Amino acid sequence: MKIFNDAAKLQKWCLGRKRSGAKIALVPTMGYLHEGHLSLIAAAKKTKADEIVVSVFVNPVQFGPNEDFDKYPRDAKADIAKCRKAGATAIFMPEPSAMYAPDHSVFVNEERLSAGLCGARRPGHFRGVCTVVAKLFNIVQPDTAVFGQKDYQQAQVIKRMARDLNFPVEIKVAPIVREKSGLALSSRNTYLSEAEKESALAISRSIASVEPGRRAAKERQRISKALEKAGLKVDYVEFVDGATLENVKTTAAGVCVLVAAFAGRTRLIDNRVL
Ligand code: AMP
Repeated sequence: MKIFNDAAKLQKWCLGRKRSGAKIALVPTMGYLHEGHLSLIAAAKKTKADEIVVSVFVNPVQFGPNEDFDKYPRDAKADIAKCRKAGATAIFMPEPSAMYAPDHSVFVNEERLSAGLCGARRPGHFRGVCTVVAKLFNIVQPDTAVFGQKDYQQAQVIKRMARDLNFPVEIKVAPIVREKSGLALSSRNTYLSEAEKESALAISRSIASVEPGRRAAKERQRISKALEKAGLKVDYVEFVDGATLENVKTTAAGVCVLVAAFAGRTRLIDNRVL
């Protein structure tokens, strides 16, 4: 497995591989890899790509000023070992200075799907995500890029960016990997105390309990109450159309229920498509 820290070197290598006819799949991550990330590498392998490039980059541009950029968990050595074992052929681990020139001044903004949900609560977040993913697409020039449904809104925003900016890449979205308890795997779960982890189970439980054909407003209330009762602070509970991310009135099939809630100071997100 090749290890790159330099964007220009990775770009040159990818171009060379493409000229030789190789297909490339990209798995963008922020590292501290868990089984959820590894499932994306497995999905990338299924595309029969010749090269599987995993990027590990805690992207400063997608964090707000009071968010956890500095304390976000990092473990480069473990990530390298996990990628190698999972069958990645290259890993890209740049420093922020290798991605952003001091006078970097171009950003990518998706203006519709990013407006609500996490976009409304984390101003600038999707601008940071779109910018870094666009850069990764230009560096790696992948045939396929794999994202997780765990970040449902992000996957929709990236699909829209790829379509609207004509990136020649197929976006694949892989299902959410959960602990046996139901808790969706996340690098941020490492912040949770045992008690907070127990409270956090209310998130997956409550979204699993939603049935089709109910009034969304009532279900929202019910879920919010259940989350609060478990000791969580609700950031949002929303029922949206899975494609447009616009709010819906009933919990029909194809509707996505999305939750963001704080367990202590840790913000957790989860979702389910009905
Ligand atoms: P992150 O490192 O948290 O930015 O996530 C990198 C990619 O892994 C994103 O596409 C996430 O949606 C995906 N991902 C994170 N957690 C999970 C999970 N539990 N199951 C599936 N994919 C995940």
